[in-house]
Amino acid sequence: MVRNIVRGGIAVLGSTGSIGTQALDVARALNMRVAALAAESNIALLEAQAREHSVPLVAVRDTRAADELAKRLRDTRTRVVPGEGGIRQAAVAPGAETVVVAVVGAAGILPTLDALEAGMRVALANKETLVCAGKLVMESARDHGADILPVDSEHSAIFQCLQGRAVAERLILTASGGPFRGMDAAALKSVTPEMALRHPNWNMGRKISIDSATMMNKGFEVIEAMHLFSMPLERIKVLVHPQSVVHSMVEYTDGAVIAQLGPADMRIPIQYALTYPERDPAPAGTLDLTAVGALTFEEPDEGTFPSLGIARRAAALGGTACAVLNGANDTAVRMFLENRISFDMIPALVGAALDKLPIEKNPSLQDIISAVDSASGFVERMCS
Ligand code: MG
Repeated sequence: MVRNIVRGGIAVLGSTGSIGTQALDVARALNMRVAALAAESNIALLEAQAREHSVPLVAVRDTRAADELAKRLRDTRTRVVPGEGGIRQAAVAPGAETVVVAVVGAAGILPTLDALEAGMRVALANKETLVCAGKLVMESARDHGADILPVDSEHSAIFQCLQGRAVAERLILTASGGPFRGMDAAALKSVTPEMALRHPNWNMGRKISIDSATMMNKGFEVIEAMHLFSMPLERIKVLVHPQSVVHSMVEYTDGAVIAQLGPADMRIPIQYALTYPERDPAPAGTLDLTAVGALTFEEPDEGTFPSLGIARRAAALGGTACAVLNGANDTAVRMFLENRISFDMIPALVGAALDKLPIEKNPSLQDIISAVDSASGFVERMCS
């Protein structure tokens, strides 16, 4: 049976990154209209994307790159807008019903809030939004009757396992364990950025690959799940599952556990966020369980990988603690990638920031953004 599903357009913020390009793959396959794009500065790719999808509005954060792109696209109908303001314009572009927020860093928070205020559907791939400002963002979604659909594979899995069912007893997030699973603390001291960037199962951006290697990524995901699914921290469990086939699970009060399985391909959760509640043909291969053979699960090694525990501590503290966590981690990861600190210093610095910096209990958005900045500055000072 052929059906014609008429869907609204999408805006893709962070369109030149890993999630952004995959979101455009999905849009191409589903023949979805792309109403706006936004990116940092990669104008070669932005130009190609704007031409291919005949995009009316393109935002470029870097002002000079925006000028250059406007010149290159002079023969088209595409309008190019610069800076932070341009990105916020792209988030609520006319013709977009869903905005994919796949920008990296705290830069995702404001456009997400703009889109929620406009009552749009937000397909959220940016971690910082919920990690730093989860309470404000969820309140805004409720106040404006807007939906946040998770793009991250774990949260998409939980979202799918929760469809039409009663209140969950526990959420079980799976973690691949990253490239250093099984190593001891001594061996971790000498790992290099190149080693950390080689993820066994998922093809991801640089920052998130390091977060996956430290397991801070899983800590962030616990915080996001707490906000997205209104689940108390102590009822969110993490299990290491090296095959990355079970993307997460939900345990119900009667002991039944519902899991979502699939190939490790981000286009599947991206597509679900764009088509929910419908399901469209697979954007990637299908799962061959006989090829996988066995699925294994183990407790995370929190002694060797302390980041998960540090993230839980921040989540329990509340207020600006998770903004501090995020800001400190961001800067520590950047320093590791620049070969300025060793791998084991990442959690050490993040933990120190959490111990030393003041926590604002009931923060405004401005307090949250300041907390991210001061944690980042704290890590800089510790290393200089
Ligand atoms: Mg994930």
